[in-house]
Amino acid sequence: MAVISADIKDALARDVPPEAHCRHALLAGLALYGKTDGAFVTHRNAVARLFWSLLEDRKSHPIETRAPTRLQRLPTFAIALPGRLATAPPKPVHRCDRLIEVRAAFLACGSLAAGARGYHLEFVARGEEIAERLRWMLRSAGAAPKQTRRKGHAVLYFKDFDAIVELLTRIGAYGAVLALEDVRALRETKNRIHRLVNTEAANLQRSAEAAAAHRRVVEYLQNAYGLPRLTPALREVAELRLLYPDESLAELGRRCNPPISKPTVSGRLGALSRLAGHLRGVQGSAKPAR
Ligand SMILES: [Zn+2]
Repeated sequence: MAVISADIKDALARDVPPEAHCRHALLAGLALYGKTDGAFVTHRNAVARLFWSLLEDRKSHPIETRAPTRLQRLPTFAIALPGRLATAPPKPVHRCDRLIEVRAAFLACGSLAAGARGYHLEFVARGEEIAERLRWMLRSAGAAPKQTRRKGHAVLYFKDFDAIVELLTRIGAYGAVLALEDVRALRETKNRIHRLVNTEAANLQRSAEAAAAHRRVVEYLQNAYGLPRLTPALREVAELRLLYPDESLAELGRRCNPPISKPTVSGRLGALSRLAGHLRGVQGSAKPAR
């Protein structure tokens, strides 16, 4: 599955809420979910700049950039947390601010991936208390997440397309919703093509097997009975089957003189098979008597 959250986070980070209470909730949420060793840490420049722009005292909290390393392939941006953001704030009272807190969690510790195998939105919580709080926030925003652990961290996640789209819409991540819809449309188109190709291949396989069986019947009749002894109608179809081994029944029907329908060709081939069956039965029962 391809991670599709990078550009989406940048777009969402540039969308600064107009209301002061929402901006406060965004700053507090980023600090809460992005806190590592007394600093706000992120791999996205746009998210670092958002956090920095929401601070009151920007001069004393510059963005510190660390270049990518072999272990950490993305650059890291760190901003020392002001004292008042070092402890967890109370849960927001207003719904708008609870949704903004989920948005902050997505920007700070969330990721979204989608591909042929499905959809995955997850949040990696840095600590049990933070995981518990985020679970509560997500439930209050719409849906209860599933939970697992990875490398000692609690991971809250969603796999259901509709639940993911609903949550992303509520937190204002419209770019993410559009990207998901694109993936889903592509996936459905691919599935439809696969189904058609498989059906077509199965049909071809079936008619090739049927044609081979018809040829064996006609060849048997040729040896055991002789095609000239057949009625003209059966003989025509039998000879055409041998002459054009790969053609469909409809095509053989068009070659007949006068042309006949596919069910009629099928009926005549059925009669040839029954005749071959009788002959085999007669030979089979005649042998022991000899
Ligand atoms: Zn608000």
